[in-house]
Amino acid sequence: MNIVLLHPAELPATGQVLLTERRAEHIHRVIQPKPGDNLRVGVVNGQMGLAEVLHCTDKQVALQVTLNQPAPAPLPVTLLLAMPRPKVLRRLLQSITALGVKQIYLINSYRVEKSYWQTPFLEADAIQEQLLLGLEQGRDTLLPEVHQRKRFKPFVEDELPALLKGKQGFLAHPTESALPCPSNQQHDSLLAIGPEGGFIAYEVEKLEQAGFQTISLGQRILKVETAVPALLSKLFL
Ligand code: SAH
Repeated sequence: MNIVLLHPAELPATGQVLLTERRAEHIHRVIQPKPGDNLRVGVVNGQMGLAEVLHCTDKQVALQVTLNQPAPAPLPVTLLLAMPRPKVLRRLLQSITALGVKQIYLINSYRVEKSYWQTPFLEADAIQEQLLLGLEQGRDTLLPEVHQRKRFKPFVEDELPALLKGKQGFLAHPTESALPCPSNQQHDSLLAIGPEGGFIAYEVEKLEQAGFQTISLGQRILKVETAVPALLSKLFL
């Protein structure tokens, strides 16, 4: 937890907040602040700042909060991620959020197992939990939006053209003809990442027709959870 996140309704005009349960327990056990110490705080989808610790036990932490900083700039990317296996999805949502992605489309693909779409990890509360953990890790306050698109063709034909407008599209697909992954991208982009078995030829064709440029990090095939942070950092960090 590198920032204590507060929900807007938790913060009264006095700026005094009393934390209990998970956040209090974590602050007491891991951070071990003394009264008078400052912690980084932020309001979900709002500003960040510092909080003076008024008192701290494992049950209760009282803070005096001052908010005066904006959240860090988002990465200029919308991620199109073939729905991964549920355990991978949970971890990925957290790490993608910590890296600063704000728009995530979980899309279907031929090689996505149908059962993945049934996972309880896709329920709104379960997603929100991972996103908040990612924000706490990355020291950020702006919650990403996660969209679920269970049909590939309607998504690519009906929705993708508008999403791609004014942006560049990259399709991560490690073939010999792919362009080496570029770096230092400042421009708004879409990045499509395939499932464990990769995109099939038809899907590659549809994305290329839509205007995506196929890119590769080289001949080594990476697991999705390695490919995503490697691609994001090469492209944007
Ligand atoms: N078996 C598939 C690989 C799937 S790896 C194949 O041979 O194509 C899962 C996804 O991670 C891929 O669809 C791609 O989006 C991404 N990925 C993995 N390794 C990559 C690399 N070297 N370059 C670019 N993308 C990669």
